[in-house]
Amino acid sequence: MITFNKPFLSGKELEYIREAVSNGKISGDGSFTKRSQDFFTSRYGFQKCLLTTSCTDALEMAALLIDIKPGDEVIVPSFTFVSTANAFVLRGAKIIFADCMKEHPNIDAEKIEELITPKTKAIIPVHYSGIACEMDKIISIAKKYNLFVIEDAAQAIDSYYKGKAIGSIGNLATFSFHETKNIISGEGGMLVINDMSFTNRSEIIREKGTNRSSFYRGEVDKYNWVDIGSSFLPSEIIAAFLFAQLEKIDEIQKKRKEIWQSYYELLRPIELKGLINLPFIPDYATNNAHMFYILCNDEKTRNNLLTYLKSKDVMAVFHYLPLHLSPYYAPKHDGRALSNSEHFSNTIIRLPFFYELKKAEILYIAESIFSFFGLTL
Ligand SMILES: *Cc1c(COP(=O)(O)O)cnc(C)c1O
Repeated sequence: MITFNKPFLSGKELEYIREAVSNGKISGDGSFTKRSQDFFTSRYGFQKCLLTTSCTDALEMAALLIDIKPGDEVIVPSFTFVSTANAFVLRGAKIIFADCMKEHPNIDAEKIEELITPKTKAIIPVHYSGIACEMDKIISIAKKYNLFVIEDAAQAIDSYYKGKAIGSIGNLATFSFHETKNIISGEGGMLVINDMSFTNRSEIIREKGTNRSSFYRGEVDKYNWVDIGSSFLPSEIIAAFLFAQLEKIDEIQKKRKEIWQSYYELLRPIELKGLINLPFIPDYATNNAHMFYILCNDEKTRNNLLTYLKSKDVMAVFHYLPLHLSPYYAPKHDGRALSNSEHFSNTIIRLPFFYELKKAEILYIAESIFSFFGLTL
């Protein structure tokens, strides 16, 4: 059986966890948290980083920071993970779902402006599969209407838009270190603050609504309850695991890009026959090899291919299901059809993708896809 994902250990995770434990400080914001956050600010030019227990938590912090109130509208792509929308729904926002581009599952920047009303507060671009959204366009719309931009960069570590790191462009950005992402800590995430007016309050919200962070720095002589907040910071045990991964990011990325390239080259002849489409990467974006997907020509073929791969012991998967059609949100959606989102949802297949995937396994998966279409590799 070739699984869809397998968490990769880069080597020093357990050593660093042992070190954190023997330091006698395993709650949050210790030395591994600081080292991980510093890694991101120095490597990617992010203004300020705060580790969180998940990307979902980071999105919830973002919703608190931009003061989402009941009735506010937030523009979110329909083709995304539920947390991108749910974090804002928790604060009472109305989600205005946007469609994908035709060539890529990312939000169609051309179709955002028509969704803006006087109640719109923010746009949430999701960099699907680590490929950047068209950020210049999105930022210029946000400036024109005075909206916040929060990048859901859960899948987009180490990826760039016109030379700028993804996560450095919006007012805020969120990352995930869930075990299915490129760099992992089991569960884990990070909030990036590029708009420095959020700095002080981001620390308070993350520390249960207290000014404990200022207290530890000696800026106030006692800490107190000063705002709303929650427990969003991860323990040092998680940060220690994460730091071991970050130290190996170049090696991990190199390997993942090789896997991506192998899939692409092996499957290209099937695309040239018009039987599938391979991922499209716009010239303003880099590829961080987060995932490899193929697009079938219709839903029936996609379902049959998935079943066929399963019979060959290959665990391929499909998602997302469009959020505007979900049992929770469909009754609240304004009824607009989002045909590109539905098309991607109906035709996508994500192939097994992880560091330890072997050349022979990639070849076997490609051969299986060839044989499904009656072709030989
Ligand atoms: C994985 C993912 C999330 C959620 O990340 P968690 O760390 O599991 O909370 C949010 N958005 C997108 C686009 C994701 O891929």
